[in-house]
Amino acid sequence: MGAQQQVADSFVELYGAAPEGVWAAPGRVNLIGEHTDYNDGFVMPFALPHLALAAVSRRDDGVLRLHSADIDAGVTELRLDDLVPESDKNWTAYPAGVVWALREAGHAVTGADIHLTSTVPAGAGLSSSAALEVVVALALNDLYELGLKRWQLARLCQRAENVYVGAPTGIMDQTASACCEEGHALFLDTRDLSQKQIPFDLAAEGMRLLVVDTQVKHAHSDGEYGKRRAGCEKGAALLGVDALRDIAYADLDAALERLGDDEEVRRLVRHVVTEDERVEQVVALLESGDTRAIGPVLIAGHASLRDDFRISAPELDLVVDTALASGALGARMTGGGFGGSAIVLAEATDVEAITKSVQDAFAAAGFTAPRVFEAVPSAGARRLN
Ligand code: ADP
Ligand code: MG
Repeated sequence: MGAQQQVADSFVELYGAAPEGVWAAPGRVNLIGEHTDYNDGFVMPFALPHLALAAVSRRDDGVLRLHSADIDAGVTELRLDDLVPESDKNWTAYPAGVVWALREAGHAVTGADIHLTSTVPAGAGLSSSAALEVVVALALNDLYELGLKRWQLARLCQRAENVYVGAPTGIMDQTASACCEEGHALFLDTRDLSQKQIPFDLAAEGMRLLVVDTQVKHAHSDGEYGKRRAGCEKGAALLGVDALRDIAYADLDAALERLGDDEEVRRLVRHVVTEDERVEQVVALLESGDTRAIGPVLIAGHASLRDDFRISAPELDLVVDTALASGALGARMTGGGFGGSAIVLAEATDVEAITKSVQDAFAAAGFTAPRVFEAVPSAGARRLN
C-alpha cells in the first residue's frame, strides 16, 4: 500500500530512524442519530474508507514530537510535563491532547515521535479530528502495551478533545473511528457505550450511499451547538430526567404537554426523542433486511433537524431536496449542522443522475461546488505494520 510506505518513509526523513509501526484510523459518517449523543441517546455511524495514518515510535525522555504531512509547518516539539489543557490552538492539540489524557489517566507514556497524514476531509463533519486522536491513541496503546479496550481509547480521545482541545463533542466520533467494522454500521448506546454491529452492505443490494460535502461551514456554528446542548439540558431538567434519553417515545406527547409554552425547548425535546426512535427503527429495518425502507426514516430525520432542531443550512436542504426530486431513496444532513455534509441513499443506477442534479442545483444557486463521493462502510482503527 503506497500511502502506508510513504508515511513510514517520511518518518525516516523527519526523525532519522524507521518508525516502530504504522497505524490507521478512519473518519465516519453518521447514518442516523444526530445530536442524540450528548443526550445519552443512540447513534449509528459507520467508518469511511478515508483514513488518518500515523507512523509512531516511543521516546523515553518526556518529549513529544509531532508532524503532519498536510500542514505547512515543521516538527513541533513539546515536553510532556508542559502539556496544559486549552493552551494549544493548533492542530497539534489533538495528538498532544491524547498523550495528555493517557498520562492524566495514569498511563506511563514517556514520549513519542509522530508523523501523520490524513485523507479525511477536515471540517466537513466527517470527523477528521477523531481520526487523528484515535490513530494516536491506538498507536500508543500498542507500543506502550497499555491494554486499553477500544471503547476506553474512545473515552480518552473524547476527553482529549473536550478538555485539552476545548471542543465540547459527544462520544460518537471517537467510538466510530475506534470500533466500526467493514460492511457494518455501529449501533451505539452513548449512555453505557454498549454497541452492536449492524450489517450494512449496500453494494450487495444494488444501492449506494453518497456523501455530499457542501464545503461550507457557517461561522456561528460553535455557539449554536452550545445553545442546543444547553436547551436539551434545560428540557431534561424541566422534565425531571437525567437526560432526554429517558423520555420514551410513547411518552413524548405527555412530555411536550408538561413543557407548556416553552416552544424552543419543546422543539429540541421533540427532535431528540423522535431521533432516538428513528435510530431504533433503522436498526430494526436493517436487521430484518428491509434496507430500502430506511429511506423515509432518513428523510424524516432531516425534516426534524431542519424544522425542530433548526441546524440545517440552505446548502444542506438543497442537497436533500434535489436528491429526493431526482429519485433518491432517502437523504439527510449529517454531523453537527450549519454546513458540512449530507448523505444520500440511492439505487446504484440513479447515482449518476442524482450527482449531476445536485451539482447543477448548486451551480444555479451560486453555491460553491460540492464534493460528492461514495461512502463504503469500512473498517475501524487498526495497526498496518
Ligand atoms: P471535523 O472533525 O469535522 O473534520 P474538526 O474541526 O473537529 O472538524 O477538526 C478539524 C481539525 O482537525 C483541523 O482544523 C485540524 O486542526 C485537525 N486536522 C484534521 N486533519 C488533519 C491533518 N491531516 N493534519 C493536521 N491536522 C488535522
Ligand atoms: Mg471533529
